[in-house]
Amino acid sequence: MKHRSLKNARIFCRRLFFFGETSSSSSSSFAPRFSREDGRSASTTTFFPRNDDDGREEEEGKRRRRSSARRARGRHRASRRSFSSSADDDDATKTTPLYSFAVVGSGPAGMYAVDKLLQLNNARKKNTNANAAIDGNGTSNTKKNNADVRVDVYEKECFPYGLVRYGVAPDHAATKNVTNKFDALLRDARVRLFANVRVGGDGEEEKRSNILRVSTRELLDRYSGVVLAHGAADNDRKLRIENEDALRGVYGARQFVNWFNGLPSAAPTSNKEMHEDIVNRLQNKKNGSNVVIVGVGNVALDCARILLRSTEELRETDIATHALEALEKAEVNSVTIVGRRSVAQAKFSPKELREVLGLPDLDVQIDDLEVTEEDIEEMNASRPRRRAFEVLEKAKDAAAENVISAEGTEKKKKKILRVIFLHSPTGLLPEEDASSSLGFVKIRKNILQGPSGNRKATLSDDAAKDETILPCDILIRSVGYVGDKLDPKLVPSDDNGTISHDGLGRVQYNEEDPSSASATKGGRLYVCGWAKRGASGVIATNVQCAEETVGAIEQDVLAGLLKPASAIVSDSDDDANGGKNNNNFLFQNDENNDKKKLLVTASKWFKLDAVERGEEEEEEEKEENVTNSAEKTSKSSSSKSRTKIVDRDRALAIVGDDA
Ligand SMILES: Cc1cc2nc3c(=O)[nH]c(=O)nc-3n(C[C@H](O)[C@H](O)[C@H](O)COP(=O)(O)OP(=O)(O)OC[C@H]3O[C@@H](n4cnc5c(N)ncnc54)[C@H](O)[C@@H]3O)c2cc1C
Repeated sequence: MKHRSLKNARIFCRRLFFFGETSSSSSSSFAPRFSREDGRSASTTTFFPRNDDDGREEEEGKRRRRSSARRARGRHRASRRSFSSSADDDDATKTTPLYSFAVVGSGPAGMYAVDKLLQLNNARKKNTNANAAIDGNGTSNTKKNNADVRVDVYEKECFPYGLVRYGVAPDHAATKNVTNKFDALLRDARVRLFANVRVGGDGEEEKRSNILRVSTRELLDRYSGVVLAHGAADNDRKLRIENEDALRGVYGARQFVNWFNGLPSAAPTSNKEMHEDIVNRLQNKKNGSNVVIVGVGNVALDCARILLRSTEELRETDIATHALEALEKAEVNSVTIVGRRSVAQAKFSPKELREVLGLPDLDVQIDDLEVTEEDIEEMNASRPRRRAFEVLEKAKDAAAENVISAEGTEKKKKKILRVIFLHSPTGLLPEEDASSSLGFVKIRKNILQGPSGNRKATLSDDAAKDETILPCDILIRSVGYVGDKLDPKLVPSDDNGTISHDGLGRVQYNEEDPSSASATKGGRLYVCGWAKRGASGVIATNVQCAEETVGAIEQDVLAGLLKPASAIVSDSDDDANGGKNNNNFLFQNDENNDKKKLLVTASKWFKLDAVERGEEEEEEEKEENVTNSAEKTSKSSSSKSRTKIVDRDRALAIVGDDA
């Protein structure tokens, strides 16, 4: 019964897929081939390709499309039911093909994709759950052989969850609660974590000996489908101004965030030079240090808040110990946020603005907040932008009142938060002549030009009148990211590293990839999250994004386009999908089991998690290898919600021998 209904579904889906489409037979250097309606914008979230018929009366076309969509939805529901109808079978594992998936990246996009992939056979899962207890930790004891979807998550860091761990600011603990859901997914018997495994790439990181590597091609050869969810790399977009690369003290927002969030590659053990430079600039300036942040989004506000918040409060968070220690001794005089356009285009969210403006002992200064009629028109089209303006306006008024009421009274030393709109940085100047250390930034007034909603900032011609020089010990640029290219020969992406796809997440990869002599034996390639959309959107945006990508996968399963695991993996010793062995292909030529020690599985992550939370102590002999005492999980810092392990070798030393 299962087979019959699945076959019907395939026929139906093929019809849908290939409607009006001839490209399946046309020659292309891309594979695997899939069909979609030519010329359609691919941004639709519907599960079905749309059926436009040029030259017809518009209304008639709409009516036909509506009724055809209704029919299609009905049939699609039926076919979805048939995909999951194995729930009714007594011994369904004998008849249900096992589909195996690799998800690259364990950030929100990857983990939501895992969640959606497991729901591909929801009805079946429910049925299984009726017979399987879930323990208090959310651990499903569903038997492995009852599942017909299997997901392996590949993550290059030792620790999972991407920007939830290394991006979200430490004082936003509630946002990080989403990891409870992700932990529950990693406890599901159908899911395995392969962390400390870098997929693709050929840069510096790949040459390190303490990380495992696998190519995208190898994954495609071993799984029914591979979902790329590797985010956008932390290469901050440059300002392209004088001395940007020549002077010390210039950092990308992601570098700075990585530093305070304890990303291993930005920690003192890996990047001593950066750590010492930041510490020196925060602590050793005569009148306190001045930080300038270029960019008017929430990441800029995160950086400002961490610099301006009291360290008593930061001590309760999961901020990296080295950053906390540096900030405890820091003397921050001012943080200035510079935006090249007007307040009407600023991307701050009102909530984040209120939070930073409400910090105690802050002297708030806001420049160039005046708005034009065009600004008002633009803000009226966007409630959050109007609200952000109102928050700033209120803060400016309150600051003016404070100045008046404080006149004549003794002034307490306050940190300055200054926000300057309509200015761009034009160059950086050294502390002193011939010094290679940053000391000042030149900013110049901008004029907005162009149509409403799309006005561009251009520098004023009058440098003498419109240029200001600000003291600047650290400059943080927060104006976007340039993505990493993952296996560039195989996987097509644009200049920002965003993967090209059909609008629903299907990627056409280059079969002629010279890095592999063999044509792929298996999988189809998909993309999700920031790797798919570029670096924009919050954690929750990735839910819908994952739904869309897994929707495309579901269509492809139903259309018979995905190979079941049994049709891909022939060598049972190299069984990525049947669950008998670990992924042995990761450990080729590993006579001494050295490579196995590098793998961080879910159980190893849970151990690291317990150590970081102070719930479990490191074993003495493992600690002997640790040289940096500041990074040790100490009882004395137990008021911290988590003491992050920021050194890859140390993390591996803690769990390396565990099964
Ligand atoms: C500084 C900052 C602060 C933010 N704060 C918030 C916030 O407070 N609230 C909010 O809702 N959103 C916030 N966001 C946005 C949110 O983090 C993103 O929407 C989300 O993380 C994107 O998810 P992703 O999975 O696509 O990417 P990521 O979270 O970046 O995950 C990608 C994962 O892939 C891994 N990876 C990368 N390359 C490879 C490879 N080659 N092989 C294997 N693994 C790889 C990475 O290590 C990472 O774990 C913030 C973003 C930033 C940059």
